[in-house]
Amino acid sequence: MQKLDRFDFSQTYLRHGYKELTIPADRGSGFAIEKNALHIWPRRSFMMIALPNFDGSFTCTLFWPFEGANSFAAIQSKKELSRFFTEQFPDALPLMPNLAQEFFENPTGSMVTVRCEPWHCFDRAVLFGDACHAVVPFYGQGMNAAFEDVLVFAELMDQWGRDWGKLFREYEQLRKPNTDALANLAIENFVEMRDRTGSRRFRLKKKSEKFLGRWLRGWYIPLYTMVSFTRTPYAEAVRRARRQDALVAAGAFVVAVLLVTLLTAILHNFLWHC
Ligand SMILES: Cc1cc2nc3c(=O)[nH]c(=O)nc-3n(C[C@H](O)[C@H](O)[C@H](O)COP(=O)(O)OP(=O)(O)OC[C@H]3O[C@@H](n4cnc5c(N)ncnc54)[C@H](O)[C@@H]3O)c2cc1C
Repeated sequence: MQKLDRFDFSQTYLRHGYKELTIPADRGSGFAIEKNALHIWPRRSFMMIALPNFDGSFTCTLFWPFEGANSFAAIQSKKELSRFFTEQFPDALPLMPNLAQEFFENPTGSMVTVRCEPWHCFDRAVLFGDACHAVVPFYGQGMNAAFEDVLVFAELMDQWGRDWGKLFREYEQLRKPNTDALANLAIENFVEMRDRTGSRRFRLKKKSEKFLGRWLRGWYIPLYTMVSFTRTPYAEAVRRARRQDALVAAGAFVVAVLLVTLLTAILHNFLWHC
């Protein structure tokens, strides 16, 4: 397809790579750290995360630039590795007995965003999944997006039967805006996870989103919830989240103005009676 006329294609690599490491199961209590959590060590320009496995171990993933002074390339010896982990992840280090072996033996993976158009050719072949819309892994939705492709395609097959030309075009029209939206969300979430999760303001924002989600159930749904736990198409989820945020900001402004007016009136009344 890449050799055909008028086929658009782009692949964009992150300058970060990733390496998988392990926190083994704790012999006494099973999980060495809280199991019902996504652990993030945000370090602004890089980060490490840990996700639990059924056997009590955690798969840690270190996302770090490939090149530069602070990068995978800069670590060449066990001593340098130990110094880096002691400085950056002192709480994780004692839980990673196989760190050096895994660090030097496991491959450093790359992360790419793929976009292309059209997703089909000659009404005979059509693309699904990463082949047409690989995304970086920070929203945990790459595989889900591929499954959604199949689901939408199956629903269209019920509608159009084997009119492949029509089916392929309709399928791409329905899916591409959503996978484009997901590609952007995934890149934005990388910046959010590594840079903002460490800030108090960010955590307060997340807590208030959760609170609003509960308080205004059905009306306000946090973006992450819409993307991860509903079938709201990704592009629609982004649009809805923007609308919600604008309404919440407007509501907060009105409440603030009302409060100031009320306080001024009370103060005025109080001073008048004095
Ligand atoms: C680090 C990382 C973490 C991720 N985490 C998540 C997550 O938490 N949640 C999530 O939903 N997604 C996640 N993903 C994304 C997910 O893995 C992919 O989106 C998903 O595997 C895509 O499935 P696919 O079938 O389209 O492609 P692939 O899984 O890449 O399958 C394509 C297959 O085709 C084979 N192949 C290639 N060329 C040929 C050929 N010429 N002939 C025959 N076979 C061929 C390949 O060997 C491969 O087996 C993650 C990805 C990465 C890299």
